[in-house]
Amino acid sequence: MLAEYAVRAEDSRGRRYPEPKHPYRNDFERDRDRVVHARAFRRLKDKTQVFTRRYSDHFRNRLTHTIEVAQIARTIAGQLGLNIDLVEALALVHDIGHPPFGHAGEKALDALMHEHGYFFDHNLHALRIVEDFELRYAAFRGLNLTFEIREGIIKHSRDYLAASFPELREYYLDQRPPLEAQLIDLADEIAYNTADLDDGLEAHLLSLDEIRWGVSLFSGYYQEVEAKFPDAIEKLKFNEALKRMLNRLADDLIENTRQNLQQAGIRSLQDVRSHPKRLVAFSQAVESERREAKNFLYASLYFSPALEPEKQDAERVITELFGYWMKKPEALPNPYQEKARQEPLPRVVCDYIAGMTDNFIYEQYDKCLGSRTAC
Ligand code: MG
Repeated sequence: MLAEYAVRAEDSRGRRYPEPKHPYRNDFERDRDRVVHARAFRRLKDKTQVFTRRYSDHFRNRLTHTIEVAQIARTIAGQLGLNIDLVEALALVHDIGHPPFGHAGEKALDALMHEHGYFFDHNLHALRIVEDFELRYAAFRGLNLTFEIREGIIKHSRDYLAASFPELREYYLDQRPPLEAQLIDLADEIAYNTADLDDGLEAHLLSLDEIRWGVSLFSGYYQEVEAKFPDAIEKLKFNEALKRMLNRLADDLIENTRQNLQQAGIRSLQDVRSHPKRLVAFSQAVESERREAKNFLYASLYFSPALEPEKQDAERVITELFGYWMKKPEALPNPYQEKARQEPLPRVVCDYIAGMTDNFIYEQYDKCLGSRTAC
């Protein structure tokens, strides 16, 4: 049962190119399936989330992170009466615009683009992927996704000013996104704030004591678990506490969002859109616990000296390859050379690099700049 403020597939603002309805899948189910079948989606399996393959095969990559976000978002959406098909499609597509090498790759690409007067933004890149780069249909370029998915890609994690982004005018930049899109950003937070503690511990970059000292949301549960399972091995106690932490974040998000909706008197999707702020939110108490966990992860893991050499390597590989193709555009694959006749070269080189997996970009580096043969 959908709540009165949920998005309804039958009310969708539709696709750029009208298509006949599917006999038994609604438009959002169909969009979800288009994302799952996209090449850019499959490439997520070889893109770094936080840890490269060097650490372990069972750590999260962008694909498994994405699946975890979808699971969490679906569960919360069900409790709030939101459109689960839309939520699932948005969760599955939310990281599709990420370049290789995680945040380090994004930072490097953005810095290079700035040198040419442009910038790199993974949400805008995701929109370019689904609107232009994916080639599956004879009648149009891209995946021809419904308006609501494209709007969610742009607006799930940040606001864009209409004055600075006139090309995004159609997405009602002065209004809030539907609750289904608002939920994705926080489901993403729940997923990585817990998963990164897990992988950080397994990688021996974080110790249990550090986590217990640094993350109060975790330590209370760990104490509870120790009392309940005194003989369990440490990792299982850790897992139990982490599971409780994840549940607390999800429970709080559901409960507090419900209260926000009630207090604001939200009765329709239009009420959501015209409300001055986002309504999907943690309570103040959990919000400060979440921030503490996130700050801990930044200080102890993301900026850890142990990850520094890989980040520097990522930056070097991206910077050198970017420079190489800027000087030698004739070495780009044919479709990109064609694109470069219509679009600025830095944008085309950036698009090419952003689409690469970690493995592929290293192969390209060896091929073009390694000691072996020229590209
Ligand atoms: Mg994410």
